Amino acid sequence: MLPERISGLERLARNLWWTWDADATALFESIDPGRWHATHHNAYALLCEADAARLEALAADEAFAVRVDDVVARLDAYLAADGWCKTGSPAVAEAGVAYLCMEYGLHESVRIYSGGLGVLAGDHLKSASDLGIPLVAVGMLYRRGYFRQVIDDGQQLVAYPEADFKRLPVVPIMDDTNKQVFIEVPIGTRTVKARIWRLDVGRVPLLLLDTDHELNSGSDRALTHYLYGGDQETRIQQETLVGIGGIRALRKLGYKFGVAHMNEGHCAFAALELIKELVDEGATFEEASVAVRHKLVFTTHTPVPAGHDRFPYDLLDKTLGPYRKAQELPQGAHVDLGRVHPGDWNEPLCMTVLALRTAGKANGVSELHGMVSREMWHGMWPKLKVDDVPIGHVTNGVHPIFWMAPEMRTLLDARIPGWRDRTWDQSLWAALDDVPDEALWNVRQRIKRNMIATLARRTGRRLDPNLLTIGFARRFAPYKRGDMLFTDPDRLAQLLEAGPFQVVYSGKAHPADAEGKKVIRNVLRWAASSRFRDRIAFVEEYDIEIGRTLTTGSDVWLNNPRRPQEASGTSGEKVLLNGGLNLSILDGWWAEGWDGTNGWAIGAEHVHGKRPEDGNLGDIPTTDAADTESLYRLIEHEIIPMWRDRTDGVPHAWIRRMKRSMATGIPRFNTHRMLKDYVEQLYAPLIEGAPVADDFPQDETVEAGVRPV
Ligand SMILES: *Cc1c(COP(=O)(O)O)cnc(C)c1O
Repeated sequence: MLPERISGLERLARNLWWTWDADATALFESIDPGRWHATHHNAYALLCEADAARLEALAADEAFAVRVDDVVARLDAYLAADGWCKTGSPAVAEAGVAYLCMEYGLHESVRIYSGGLGVLAGDHLKSASDLGIPLVAVGMLYRRGYFRQVIDDGQQLVAYPEADFKRLPVVPIMDDTNKQVFIEVPIGTRTVKARIWRLDVGRVPLLLLDTDHELNSGSDRALTHYLYGGDQETRIQQETLVGIGGIRALRKLGYKFGVAHMNEGHCAFAALELIKELVDEGATFEEASVAVRHKLVFTTHTPVPAGHDRFPYDLLDKTLGPYRKAQELPQGAHVDLGRVHPGDWNEPLCMTVLALRTAGKANGVSELHGMVSREMWHGMWPKLKVDDVPIGHVTNGVHPIFWMAPEMRTLLDARIPGWRDRTWDQSLWAALDDVPDEALWNVRQRIKRNMIATLARRTGRRLDPNLLTIGFARRFAPYKRGDMLFTDPDRLAQLLEAGPFQVVYSGKAHPADAEGKKVIRNVLRWAASSRFRDRIAFVEEYDIEIGRTLTTGSDVWLNNPRRPQEASGTSGEKVLLNGGLNLSILDGWWAEGWDGTNGWAIGAEHVHGKRPEDGNLGDIPTTDAADTESLYRLIEHEIIPMWRDRTDGVPHAWIRRMKRSMATGIPRFNTHRMLKDYVEQLYAPLIEGAPVADDFPQDETVEAGVRPV
């Protein structure tokens, strides 16, 4: 129990708004810095565990109490304000939006995410809240979540610690008689019951489904234990829960929405439930599967064919057969919606196809990824030209406040009024030219020292604040080529000497990804070698805290995927918010962002255009070798000389590049702009009744058939 005078802290701790408010964050840290770090910056757990005498002392400290009052007053003002949507898009403000995703990366203390998809979804919610978009989100509350990485003897080990929901800022949804609310989800012949927790993200409620309670049997209880941890059968059951259960939770709690946004194919079963609702109101199944397009938006994130969830018919039938039969639908009804060629009984159900077929608006997550997706799914619309395949693009962004170091926010508040609300307004950012180089450089040095302190606390290792620091943190999937810098160790050694510079690595490989784990082992081996260990560090357990630390503090951010396999990537967008510079392959967002003056493009000499095939040198070894050569040359001939070129200790040419990077990048690669695009290009047109993609102009229409025996 908190002392009355500072009881406002509990309200603050229960709304993740505090995670992107610097004063609120500082307030919690000041209560007990040691416990703050020990709880992994979990404000709610901190209050639960804080020393009673310390809280009494703080309540008696009027200066502290007034700070609490001020921050609570700002939260109240934030929750009551209108935001952009009310005038920016009245139709959406009136109708509301539902958003479904398998994972949410909101903060390091809420471990229901694995990586980029979740972080994007988390930023989507934060910006929807800031812009006043009436959005309600649905996901799952994982008991153990995604794995924690422990590095031991050069190997990646995994751990799955259990979360204590009582220590999270989630509240169970109760009914009028104070009983927990449950929804029922059909899985096989069973009815699985899920309870619903609410997590407040500013003004946006995030509903989290949880099957781990005594009304379910053992294996059903385990359904919400692991994120991306189980076999195919667990996966289809989880996707049933988030899709069908997601819609049922929204209905049960009375949320209205004009559109539902399926973020990645995992949630595509939501379409089956919306179709069922229309059938229950009297439509035929065929009518309903067309009509549902006026309500559904779909975003695809995967540029690699093998990355899309596919389920064989038998598994679908085992999981959702009873659901289908209860609706008296023919055997092929559901599966055909998820097939490129309906009626082809050799074809499994693909969640992406199901989502594309049932959504009235669909998009990839960068211009290049839009093209790759139209190419990849052309088979669904064989009569259309590739460019006419109805998949557009909205380029991913990052939340412009959460991912920016407080020191930089303060500088921009003073220099660029309005940047927090009209982040997308390009005209605001010319004012960066007027910021004195020394002022910007001082902020950079402070942010970098904070990074070094955080890394020292997390790893015991202290980097050199005066050295050029290159950061590399991401999932270790083979296409990201995480060990590219070590291709020619002698050359790397020369460069490290010439710089000198240091490199910080972080990242996980999925436990089932043998190739990815090999890449980590290779990086770990070099980082531990006597040759490189003074200059190369590997930080274990890449999470949102490490992501925030490295993207704020690194001078240069390295990203070298095999083009065009990076759908968008977002970590480099975090870097430019903080004045760091990108050194990246022209893939994903960077293919749109680079202009020759605002960072460096690896392989620019052989990638001249914007089509996926541009710069395709043929086989993988040839491309890898050319990209590696380009990377070494950029470091040697451009980055090191520019870093060393100083007047009175200040690198003016470098800072000119920083200002270009910020002025060209910040207004475009942020989620405020991204949400505005989703509202204006996808949500509002559907809500206002714009025509949607026709039914599929297939050469042959196949009736929803019966499987041949
Ligand atoms: C930003 C972020 C990502 C996504 O970045 P990519 O550029 O897509 O790799 C993944 N994980 C964490 C923890 C992040 O903060």
